Amino acid sequence: MPSKLIIHGGFFSESGTNHEIRTAKQQALKDIATKAHGFLLKHTAVETVAYAVSLLESCELFNAGLGSQIQSDGKIRMSASLMDGLTQKFSGVINIEDVEHPIHVAKKLMEFEDSVLGGPCATSFAREHGFDYFYAEIPQRRKEFQEKLEKTRTGTVGCVALDGEGRLAAATSTGGKGFEMPGRISDSATVAGNYANRFAAVSCTGVGEDIVSGALAAKIVTRTTDGLSLREAMERSFGELKPFDGFAGAIAISANGDIWHQDSHPYMVWASFDSEVNVFD
Ligand code: ASP
Repeated sequence: MPSKLIIHGGFFSESGTNHEIRTAKQQALKDIATKAHGFLLKHTAVETVAYAVSLLESCELFNAGLGSQIQSDGKIRMSASLMDGLTQKFSGVINIEDVEHPIHVAKKLMEFEDSVLGGPCATSFAREHGFDYFYAEIPQRRKEFQEKLEKTRTGTVGCVALDGEGRLAAATSTGGKGFEMPGRISDSATVAGNYANRFAAVSCTGVGEDIVSGALAAKIVTRTTDGLSLREAMERSFGELKPFDGFAGAIAISANGDIWHQDSHPYMVWASFDSEVNVFD
């Protein structure tokens, strides 16, 4: 089975119009997809999606880890989750603060029976397990916050992978939608935003409330499990967002090696590594 993966960097309004940002994102996604694919050749799907997402978290072009968006009270709270399609174990952190890699904390939680933690308890868990304090704010996000640029579309990150043994996994990480109420729960650490089993793996981005209303990732995976092709499962599930004008994008891989991305609105940014690297244009 040839191993393959697809990553996304969420939506970003400037990607359609600002040439410089567009090129920078294309290059970053291309580099990370290539590096993560090299890693996938020697590691499992679940190890790889966590690795790829940690690289995306370190890239301040995206809204996850370093460069996360700021909430309405001026603080950064991040969410991330990981799902192993083979074991169907889901782990995640919701509204964690001051860590460099929320996805690594989510990965640590895979070892525990209680595998999703939220708020200050998620941050305390991270400290207890050796995740040091990290300041995730960058000046650009503070500037956007001060100018109250609520229209800035977000740039959550995600990865889905199929490894050489046919195992699937998905990971997603976000700084949220920006300017949200403290305590708001993002879809990214729920089964609506990130889901995998033996048949398919999906990572979503967009407006978390719409993704939850559409139960998007879990629904796409269920439809694929029940026999629809990945493309049909994606198209039908995205069609069901239309009555409420749901804003979402998703990347996915199925067990037979189909790879697909879909969005309800323009400019979801992504890159895939199938037999070669492909990037949005
Ligand atoms: N889905 C994320 C959230 O609503 C944001 C995004 O994907 O850009 O928290």
